[in-house]
Amino acid sequence: MHGLMQDWPLLTHRIIDHAASFHGTREIVSRSVEGPIVRHTYSELNAGARKMASALSGLGIKKGDIIGTMAWNGYRHMELWYGAMGLGAVVHTLNPRLFPEQLVYIINHAEDGYFFLDLTFVPILEGIQDRLKTVKGFIIMTDEAHMPDTSLRNAQCYETLKAGGDDGFQWPEFDEKTAAGMCYTSGTTGNPKGVLYSHKSNVLHALSSSSADALALSSVETILPVVPMFHANSWALVFAGPMTGASLVMPGAAMDGPSIYELLDTEKVTLTAAVPTVWQMLLMHLEETGKTLPHLKRVVIGGAACPPSMMDIFEDKYDVEVIHAWGMTEMSPLGSLCTRKGGLEDMPDKAWRAIQRKQGRPPFSIEMKIVDDAGEELPWDGKSFGHLLVRGPCVSSAYFKGEGGDILDKDGWFDTGDVSTIDEHGYMEITDRSKDVIKSGGEWISSIELENLAVGHRDVIEAAVIGVAHPKWDERPLLIIVRKEGSKVSREDLLEFLDGQIAKWWMPDDVVFVDEIPHTATGKIQKTALREQFADYRLPSADAAE
Ligand code: AMP
Repeated sequence: MHGLMQDWPLLTHRIIDHAASFHGTREIVSRSVEGPIVRHTYSELNAGARKMASALSGLGIKKGDIIGTMAWNGYRHMELWYGAMGLGAVVHTLNPRLFPEQLVYIINHAEDGYFFLDLTFVPILEGIQDRLKTVKGFIIMTDEAHMPDTSLRNAQCYETLKAGGDDGFQWPEFDEKTAAGMCYTSGTTGNPKGVLYSHKSNVLHALSSSSADALALSSVETILPVVPMFHANSWALVFAGPMTGASLVMPGAAMDGPSIYELLDTEKVTLTAAVPTVWQMLLMHLEETGKTLPHLKRVVIGGAACPPSMMDIFEDKYDVEVIHAWGMTEMSPLGSLCTRKGGLEDMPDKAWRAIQRKQGRPPFSIEMKIVDDAGEELPWDGKSFGHLLVRGPCVSSAYFKGEGGDILDKDGWFDTGDVSTIDEHGYMEITDRSKDVIKSGGEWISSIELENLAVGHRDVIEAAVIGVAHPKWDERPLLIIVRKEGSKVSREDLLEFLDGQIAKWWMPDDVVFVDEIPHTATGKIQKTALREQFADYRLPSADAAE
């Protein structure tokens, strides 16, 4: 027997309908690519998205068609995003930091029909347009006054296209399982693979991410998603913001410390989210200028491990609560968040801080377990570590066009490729990507833990640890350091700093200093590039062992 409740498909445009009805005057404040700060309301977003949907239909875009976007976080990107999804089309966001070859592969593989881009990216698309097989035309996300002189084929102005649309456009109704968005994974091995979100998965993910034990979003918040819309749905915030009636502040192209600080301050932002490298730039700016963060209450740090030293500075110096979060493009993306749970209220702050450093626990809709190499489940004791598997309605079941084959085991679990522990309270801690763990004498050394400790040294800007071949131990850790400008910190200083903080056999065998550590397009340390760079590196201990 079925229940007798209404069939109300979970479609993403319902989010902005709700926002317009109940939070119509709440704002989306954007640093525009043209320069000025522009302000819109959720009522305007709803009308604009309808107008855009109507204009897109005029171009011949229909349900199931894929459009590409290369755009910063800003009002027009949101308007297009909701308009296209509301029509049943799929919004495929591209990361402008990818190499041209990767962009060509991804756009052709996704078969993007029309391509929407911010002014910033005209040169990138001009450079590759001849190799794009399916793109019929390019829509430049600006007004007539700012239209560039461009060789892009069938180039059109976004505002002119929109002006021809109808803001009374009626959203069509369709199945909630319909594809809504697409994002290619960073693809550290092989070609990038397409993750295809549905309306239902996006709505459910926004609901579970906003819940009180997760991001605890509400209409009193002002949220600055520094994390881009092209990095896995800006971690739910572009859906969860309007869903809860929170105001959004969109940073556009400027993600440097002073620009982010300006928005945090002038717009009185209460919650913000980004990868650790962004926060490193902000903290440096605060240190240089002596500025403080009087309005900011919470900062979400994820995408890569948040170093404990960064957490301590936000919490102790600036009185900003850190929410350490973990996730993946394949998980929509939030998988776990580290917030204090019932039963731990009386835990002394110091003990809680030790847990807060972990990547946290999942909100409802995500199942999680750790297994050994044979697939046997491991205990939740905070010590046993193994492959982290997840399952749920916002986790990928396959990649676009079946790339990579079956990605689930027979019980529907997806292997995240991460190695982690889970403690008795259910808090998960990532020890490494499985490809990055250092295997020394049959035991595993966590590169993340060594990096976290090393960046705690006051002269270190960034640290990476990789395994380097060793005749006796298989692999031993090599610590790679970017020093603060002018610092003379030495190999011996750093090893002495680590001494006592780690087991003796975890001690890096050597330390090298570099000007820069390579990053992936989403701001993670690019271990593959470092391993190539140091492929022939001979550790002093290797000589001694032979
Ligand atoms: P992506 O799909 O590009 O966002 O990459 C997902 C991967 O980033 C995860 O599988 C982790 O390896 C890594 N990652 C994300 N968040 C964290 C975190 N808080 N700590 C450590 N690694 C993380």
